[in-house]
Amino acid sequence: MRIKDILAKNELVFSFEHFPPKTDEAEDELLKTIHRLKAYNPPYVSVTYGAGGSTRDRTRRVVKRVLEEAKITTMPHLTCVGSSKDDIKAILEDYKSLGVENILALRGDLPEGMTEIPPESGGFRFANDLVAFIKSMNSFSIGVAVYPEAHQDAPSLQVDMEHTKVKVDAGADFGITQMFFDNTHLYNFRDKALKMGIDIPIICGMMPIAQFEKIKKFAGMCKASIPASLEAKMAKANGNEAEMMKIGMDHVTEQMADLIKNGFKFFHIYTLNRADVAEILLDNLSVKKS
Ligand code: FAD
Repeated sequence: MRIKDILAKNELVFSFEHFPPKTDEAEDELLKTIHRLKAYNPPYVSVTYGAGGSTRDRTRRVVKRVLEEAKITTMPHLTCVGSSKDDIKAILEDYKSLGVENILALRGDLPEGMTEIPPESGGFRFANDLVAFIKSMNSFSIGVAVYPEAHQDAPSLQVDMEHTKVKVDAGADFGITQMFFDNTHLYNFRDKALKMGIDIPIICGMMPIAQFEKIKKFAGMCKASIPASLEAKMAKANGNEAEMMKIGMDHVTEQMADLIKNGFKFFHIYTLNRADVAEILLDNLSVKKS
């Protein structure tokens, strides 16, 4: 099913993001995780794409297995850094033949020292070029990344959102947010987006805080800020891992409850391939299981 159509129903959505594991054994484990989380009726799951296409085959394999074995709508992520138009076209045609109907269209992180993709490398310089290309195939519902606190390389939120508007105008159907730990950033983003004509549905990207130090490192790399109040609570826990996990998961639960109260209905949980952390969040929110 097309995610655009899923979102048009305007019902609560809890979806899961997974990454393709490096070994066959870990891939089997991931399939078990996906089957376990199927109890929460995710209308779709997504599978990430390694930087520069490094997981191209593994992403495809996981996508195919989720479609065939778990029978859940699946959205591969696709980045255009380092790919030619022919590469991208071949990947998309292959996905189409597998029955994939949704793509998360991304530029991807640039290699160290580069500030933008050179135009001679395939013609895709930013995600909006990839969106326009996918749109021209007329086969997929297209998602894009959006950044409540601005993309890490952007000079300001305003400039980054102007670029988001270009992605929307190129044909994006929905946006999935970068992780954020203070909802005021998303409320500010929503208000600004409406004024700028960024009118696509926004899916909240929620990062479970099961291991605070690890998440803090990820957040630092993409300039997602950690609220001082959360830092203070973590400091008080003084390295007690169980306590820190409880504080972190309660924080994200409260974020999601507050977002629902404030009109957000669509959630994309960055599972990091762990079923237990997604389950904690959904059980805390009393999400029905089948
Ligand atoms: P763009 O939208 O192209 O933006 C990149 C930068 O360029 C921004 O600073 C933007 O302001 C600027 N920009 C955009 N358009 C223009 C323009 N027309 N002119 C001038 N400047 C412009 N990475 C992976 O490698 N694999 C994944 O699977 C993956 N999944 C992700 C999923 C989500 C939900 C999110 C939020 C991110 C994901 N990423 C993934 C990370 C993403 O690839 C990086 O954040 C990357 O640096 C930017 O990708 P983008 O699609 O947002 O790029």
